[in-house]
Amino acid sequence: MILIKDITNYMERLAPLSLQESYDNAGLIVGDPSEEVKGILCTLDCTEVVVEEAIQSGCNLIIAHHPIVFKGLKKLNGKNYVERVVIKAIKNDIAIYASHTNLDHVEGGVNFKIAEKLGLQNVRILQPKKNLLKKLVTFVPVEHGQKVLDALYEAGAGQIGDYKNCSFRVEGTGTFRPTGGANPFIGTVDQDEEVKEFRIEVILQAHQEYMILSALKKAHPYEEVAYYLSNLENDLAQVGAGAIGSLDEVLEETSFLQYLKDAMALSTIRHTPLSGKKIQKVAVCGGAGGFLLNDAIRQGADVFVTADYKYHEFFDAENKIIICDIGHYESEVYTKELIISYLSEKFSNFAILKSQVNTNPVQYF
Ligand SMILES: [Zn+2]
Repeated sequence: MILIKDITNYMERLAPLSLQESYDNAGLIVGDPSEEVKGILCTLDCTEVVVEEAIQSGCNLIIAHHPIVFKGLKKLNGKNYVERVVIKAIKNDIAIYASHTNLDHVEGGVNFKIAEKLGLQNVRILQPKKNLLKKLVTFVPVEHGQKVLDALYEAGAGQIGDYKNCSFRVEGTGTFRPTGGANPFIGTVDQDEEVKEFRIEVILQAHQEYMILSALKKAHPYEEVAYYLSNLENDLAQVGAGAIGSLDEVLEETSFLQYLKDAMALSTIRHTPLSGKKIQKVAVCGGAGGFLLNDAIRQGADVFVTADYKYHEFFDAENKIIICDIGHYESEVYTKELIISYLSEKFSNFAILKSQVNTNPVQYF
């Protein structure tokens, strides 16, 4: 029996909630985490029509990219579509989960899906996040060093880019005196003790802290584990906003625009003036990506594919880059496929469906 919390925990292995922006509301918005999952419907937006689709298709969990509840709800009387969606979901025992900016911020997330649709190579995060890495230092009797390290690795510590099991250690002497009430693993109460210990250092991501400290305390032989954690200012290259990569072949500007249109199934592209440059390096950001323009320029992108650009913001391209606004819905609609393929790798005992509803509130005449 698979419970809703099994699904949400699995989603959060890809996109931990702690990686969402402070203004966001990703997570389980409606529903009981201990309910059994009967079917999952994946959508970009959770509208009333989508809730109806879930009812009709026997799905009791909707996974959306955009959180239906974003600001606080003070009343629930159905006066707007947000309240009506929540009421309809609750009445019909349907849970709603959103994976939003946390899914934007990870490798393999929303922006990597856009890069995949465009066939980009060597894709990486455009604007890596800072202050998400920590360093753990601990002191372990030499003969227990490997066991503790293995436990730390198992819990996710020691990963740097494509390298795992990264650590540093030096041997030294630890000293302590157990006092009354102590039950020391080594030594005797009220006697000074010296032990050959390793000082072990590993790196970890901030959201792994609880798991890793639990693993440390479980694997370490001492009653009181000596350790310290410190924050690092290093960029975490695997987490951040936008993505950048290269096309297999260099394209003329108009060929690129046609390619973009076909690859993302667009009816229209709003773009800045063409300058006759060739296109190879492409920066992307699903939804409103204007804040990444300077990162895209600095990293040599020839074009920036994003959405939600306003008139005056187009001037900022200054002939250094071509901004392509392809529409918010159009830029993120393939997130449905991303979530479905990720869930399908692990779960096969119920339907995982793609919503057939076009929830785009913007229409083109
Ligand atoms: Zn969006």
